[in-house]
Amino acid sequence: MSERERANHQAQSMTPLDLLDIDASLGEEERQIRAVVRQLVDDRVRPYVAGWYEDGQVPARELAREFGKLGLLGMHLTGYGCAGASAVAYGLACLELEAGDSGVRSLVSVQGSLAMYAIWRYGSEEQKQRWLPAMAAGEAIGCFGLTEPDHGSDPASMATRARRDGDDWILDGTKMWITNAPVADVAVIWARTDEGVRGFAVPMDTPGVTAREIRHKMSLRASLTGEIVLDGVRLPADARLPEATGLKAPLSCLTEARYGIVWGALGAARDCLETALSYATTRTQFGRPLAGFQLTQAKLADMAVEWNKGLLLASHLGRLADAGKLRPEQVSVGKLNNVREALAIARQCRTILGANGISGEYPIMRHANNLESVLTYEGTSEIHQLIVGQRLTGLSAFA
Ligand SMILES: Cc1cc2nc3c(=O)[nH]c(=O)nc-3n(C[C@H](O)[C@H](O)[C@H](O)COP(=O)(O)OP(=O)(O)OC[C@H]3O[C@@H](n4cnc5c(N)ncnc54)[C@H](O)[C@@H]3O)c2cc1C
Repeated sequence: MSERERANHQAQSMTPLDLLDIDASLGEEERQIRAVVRQLVDDRVRPYVAGWYEDGQVPARELAREFGKLGLLGMHLTGYGCAGASAVAYGLACLELEAGDSGVRSLVSVQGSLAMYAIWRYGSEEQKQRWLPAMAAGEAIGCFGLTEPDHGSDPASMATRARRDGDDWILDGTKMWITNAPVADVAVIWARTDEGVRGFAVPMDTPGVTAREIRHKMSLRASLTGEIVLDGVRLPADARLPEATGLKAPLSCLTEARYGIVWGALGAARDCLETALSYATTRTQFGRPLAGFQLTQAKLADMAVEWNKGLLLASHLGRLADAGKLRPEQVSVGKLNNVREALAIARQCRTILGANGISGEYPIMRHANNLESVLTYEGTSEIHQLIVGQRLTGLSAFA
């Protein structure tokens, strides 16, 4: 690369934090997608997100339509109005969205990687035609109901039941902590049947379905989370996702969403790091900028090293995914490491801002609080440790 090319490349680079020039490994299209998403976040998320967070609200429908116009919903899927982007491009989009807010990234992840993916991978042609183009455009919003009040990390013991009544299915149960539920048009609901776990595409206006918003969250406040109660919900036979048999179906959807989180968490961490870096260079104490103190530089250096390692990991997993070789336990390595490190970075960055670190005027505390949810959903850190542990030892320590 010539000096001039290098200068150009640095100018459009992801961030000055890219110490290892990981950016240089990206293709032109990947860079373009990233730039478009970054601009969208700068225009439509950053100016408003602190207010959304404080109010515990987010204009989910409006955002979904805008994300849909840019092809961000189900962007790694093909056909049915989906963009068919690479896994790396999808990851970069998640990173940029989460640099705005983890809740906004969650809206996109749940729509594309959980609800749309489930229908795309396991649905009938009719279900795909009915839901996917509208969901890709952001005209219909989806959610994914696996977790229940009494069954979180252990979905195999779910209590939601689906039983046959003639050709119909009757669903009873409660799903808890469901992202997008209060605003969703369709829920992918996982239920136990006599033959094992099955999935259903449930229109939210079906009689017997109610969604209640979960309030008073101290984390992921710019995201709508709800409880879904299914009370004798009668569904036609063709509401069942025909290709989904057993728990491996919802687990495969989780692998998709976890992959996006591997990248997304780095976005929240980047925003914290950039904020702390900028603050440290302008805030003066003891007659010099905070950035001039060795202890501050040690913090910044250690955080930047972890962030770069996280980005290398995400890029590696992305390339594996694009080659069709990514395994679930590899995604667990990425989710475990990158969310844990992103949270550690957010907390450390907060210290650099002192009292301002706890203020909503700066994004750091919001990101740190959000990352507590990201650490828990899509498999807690402990569950990912158990998945990696099983791979290492050949022994399952789950139960
Ligand atoms: C904001 C938010 C949004 C969410 N969105 C969705 C969604 O859209 N759809 C959905 O289905 N779910 C969603 N969830 C639920 C999420 O996936 C669960 O919270 C998660 O799986 C953990 O389940 P739990 O909260 O019941 O915790 P529990 O399973 O009760 O776990 C509590 C603690 O015990 C630990 N633990 C459990 N089992 C073991 C074990 N065998 N060994 C060691 N430690 C263990 C856990 O790691 C955790 O630390 C969301 C959660 C949040 C917070």
